[in-house]
Amino acid sequence: MLVDSHCHLDLLEPDRYEGGLPGVLEAARAHGVGHMLCVAVNLDRYPAMRALVDPLPGVSVSVGLHPNEHSAGEPDEAQLAALARDPAVVAVGETGLDYYRSEGDLEWQRERFRTHIRAARRVNKPLIVHSRAARADTLRILAEEDAGAVGGVMHCFAEDWETARRALDLGLHISFSGIVTFRSALELQDVARRVPLDRMLVETDSPYLAPVPFRGRPNQPGYVHHVAARIGELRGIPFAQVAERTTENFHALFAVAAAGAATVPT
Ligand SMILES: [Zn+2]
Repeated sequence: MLVDSHCHLDLLEPDRYEGGLPGVLEAARAHGVGHMLCVAVNLDRYPAMRALVDPLPGVSVSVGLHPNEHSAGEPDEAQLAALARDPAVVAVGETGLDYYRSEGDLEWQRERFRTHIRAARRVNKPLIVHSRAARADTLRILAEEDAGAVGGVMHCFAEDWETARRALDLGLHISFSGIVTFRSALELQDVARRVPLDRMLVETDSPYLAPVPFRGRPNQPGYVHHVAARIGELRGIPFAQVAERTTENFHALFAVAAAGAATVPT
């Protein structure tokens, strides 16, 4: 059994997949994906995403505003906490910092990130953290806001071992995407050998970042087995062990019952 810990089912263009979204979900099952976490990026589009995912078995949702996205209003801590209290919501995010795709004075991103961490702590749910070209500030804010109290995941991790080690020390998990299958990703492959098995997750970040051998094509949750298989190769352990451990880690971190039903953390 596998889990895709991070995908955007609402952002897939159904026409680009055989059988549309039902075909994507069927393919995921056929590849042993028992659960998917559909991650919010925009609060204006969030109600539609939640409605899309609600009837789907084995799919849970997060709520948050991505650092590169803009919604009608900037959410405050109380608004985010109210949305995140929803029993169907298993995490707050994605949130974090992205200095690569945004320009100028990015104090607003740091404030938004802090607001998400505070909301997550208020409702006691873990964080889904996006960080690009901002590793020092990401780690600093996670520490200053005591994100470790709720934990979470550094999603689509693409930094060096030192950054991974510091994130692990702060109590976060590390999630690997299709990037780990890219031939040029030597530094990241080194990280994938070193992250403790009980702190690791796998994801697709669909529809982006398809793993080898589908690189450059539309990604889908069923491809997560290519990520897990590559990690198994890198560590010299069976694929099944990576699948089993990352699945266990997911269910523990997000308090999602293995059967697929969301449970409310107490
Ligand atoms: Zn994402």
